[in-house]
Amino acid sequence: MSILQHNGNFQMPQLAYKAADLSPVISAETFEYHFGKHLQTYVNNLNAALVGSGFEGDSLEEIVKKAEGGIFNNAGQVLNHTLYFQQFKSPTENNVPTGKIADAINATFGDYDKFKTEFEAKGVSLFGSGWVWLSADADGKLVITQHTNAGNPITLNLSPLLTFDVWEHAYYIDYRNARASHLKALWSIIDWNVIGQRYVK
Ligand code: MN
Repeated sequence: MSILQHNGNFQMPQLAYKAADLSPVISAETFEYHFGKHLQTYVNNLNAALVGSGFEGDSLEEIVKKAEGGIFNNAGQVLNHTLYFQQFKSPTENNVPTGKIADAINATFGDYDKFKTEFEAKGVSLFGSGWVWLSADADGKLVITQHTNAGNPITLNLSPLLTFDVWEHAYYIDYRNARASHLKALWSIIDWNVIGQRYVK
């Protein structure tokens, strides 16, 4: 089952929260530009590029795995931003993973704090625009990867679970150039129920 169904014409993903609900971690203004303008543009560009491409009947994930150039870039950004925006909830104090995903994080990284430190460091050290991802391999083993531009770990046959967008458009209104501060703040809005559901699939 694809994350975003379509009939050759993609629609914006459905979210369980409103524009202002992620504030102050992500302000309503950032949300309205990032979701409402950047993602909408990727959706529009993908729909335009799909016409006559031969990819019209493929799932979004299949397009990302098979396409190159402009179709890959726009399909990748639609998939990446869908996974990104659907993983959030309102800011929560002491927000921690639970269940199987928590056990896997502890087993792989030592504990949740060590995982966060490594994940943030991979986001800070990614040069230019891109994404840092937590994924599971076919055996359920967790791995953190860095991807430039529109990259997504499904191209490495990994299952994406959690992602931080390190393109400047994700944080420049609220944090200016302080990428590290933005990444550190994101943990309080991660919906670990969503991440856990992605992990068991
Ligand atoms: Mn983005």
